[in-house]
Amino acid sequence: MATARADTPSCSNQYPIPDRMKAWVLGGPEELSLVEKPVPQPGSAEVLVRVDAIAVCATDIEIIRHGVPAMIDGGLPFNKGFTPGHEYMGTVVKLGPTVDEFQIGDRVTVEVHAGCGRCQRCREGMYTSCLNYGFRAKGHRANGFSTDGGFAEYAVNNINTLAHIPDDMTDAEATLIVTAGTAMYGLDVMGGVIAGEGVVVIGPGPIGLMGVGVAKALGAQPVILTGTRDRRLEMGRQLGADAVVNVGGEDPVGAVQRLTGGKGVQYVLECSGAPNALNEAARMVNRGGRICLAAFPAEPVPVDLAYLVRNNIYIFGIRGEGKSATHRAAALIAQKRFDAKLIHTHTFPLAEVPTAIRYARERVDDAIKVVVQIRQN
Ligand SMILES: [Zn+2]
Ligand SMILES: [Zn+2]
Repeated sequence: MATARADTPSCSNQYPIPDRMKAWVLGGPEELSLVEKPVPQPGSAEVLVRVDAIAVCATDIEIIRHGVPAMIDGGLPFNKGFTPGHEYMGTVVKLGPTVDEFQIGDRVTVEVHAGCGRCQRCREGMYTSCLNYGFRAKGHRANGFSTDGGFAEYAVNNINTLAHIPDDMTDAEATLIVTAGTAMYGLDVMGGVIAGEGVVVIGPGPIGLMGVGVAKALGAQPVILTGTRDRRLEMGRQLGADAVVNVGGEDPVGAVQRLTGGKGVQYVLECSGAPNALNEAARMVNRGGRICLAAFPAEPVPVDLAYLVRNNIYIFGIRGEGKSATHRAAALIAQKRFDAKLIHTHTFPLAEVPTAIRYARERVDDAIKVVVQIRQN
């Protein structure tokens, strides 16, 4: 039986832990309030993370407004004392029983889903598709979705959701790793990018832009980014896109055919959620090509199924990261294979979380990634 090393203290005087902490909690829809609540305690295979910084995600905005995709004990997350936020990083300040995988003082970034660890999907590594999703009593953990997240001073994390980060990586940059992990997972589920194969990324939002960086770092050629905003397309170029297409000026399907000499690409990572994106993606890939949907339209949309079937086109969908893709994305960013910092546009303190969310939601000042810096270093 495994036991903690006798010389591993479970907490340290260097990081005094108060009994209570500041945390944002969700009341009804759109009702966030800053409260004091007890600092949570790590259980077996868990650590207490002092949250140092957290990025606002479009999914946080969805959860705060509609509840879904957060789900707590089979219901919506409203009026349950729930703290949202899932793209955070911080410092390990307390170890649960038997934990020796991390040390007090380690700087870490987190991925969202620990899953339940006991269902078929979790055992397959598909912990974002946990069959016990949202049922805490069954062990399911997805911080910011079914368990408390990071718009707070502290959070408890399963050790499987943590990745070490190097000293020279800033807090803000480390909050972007889980977004890059989602893009990495999108490429994974399509079978993994093979160096030299072409990738189109539709939609230069945070996941799309990180998708460009990851695909290029993995050797994809060409990487083509399509979108409507020149500033974001230019960011895509800096992240490694070989070509960018402003769909306001050129038909994206025609552009991809032009850029690939009529051959099309092997993979499309769809991050726009535009109603016609899947039909366009189908005409960007070549026969037998693969499309991963990482965004979706608000309403059902018509799809040319016959075209997909006749051309042996494979469609995948992902909700968030999985299969430890976040760890691999962290490795690429730590090796400076692309500059994730480019998408970080604004910073606010913990007291101004509602303002940070408003900037992200309304794209105030063309905000892309808004980071809440909780600790000043
Ligand atoms: Zn997110
Ligand atoms: Zn599970």
